[in-house]
Amino acid sequence: MSIDDLFIAADPEVTQRERLKAKELKRSAWLKGQTGQGRCHYCGARCHPGALTMDHVVPLIRGGRTTRGNCVPACMECNQEKRHLSSLQWQSRMEEKRLKRAAEENAPPRTPSTEDQSDAQS
Ligand SMILES: [Zn+2]
Repeated sequence: MSIDDLFIAADPEVTQRERLKAKELKRSAWLKGQTGQGRCHYCGARCHPGALTMDHVVPLIRGGRTTRGNCVPACMECNQEKRHLSSLQWQSRMEEKRLKRAAEENAPPRTPSTEDQSDAQS
């Protein structure tokens, strides 16, 4: 049993209504503005705007709503992963990805590493 099992599933009627709202929001100029920035909200990856999906931060099934505050552009990879992980697993995965991305963006150009030899026993 994980903490996710403690969530109470949303009313199916409400979920249905929110899904319809999501369809409208996906066609809106607002979402085009969001995806037009070409960045995944979660991992910060640069993506072609057409490759970004709209994701509910708090999933509809967990009582999330289709509002601008709860909908973000996400890359396919994040969208897929988020779907399959519990919220706690997802949070730590997201943290990992952000650190990795930040390290990649700040890293100096790659040079041959000498660290591999440093722990060789003499
Ligand atoms: Zn992402």
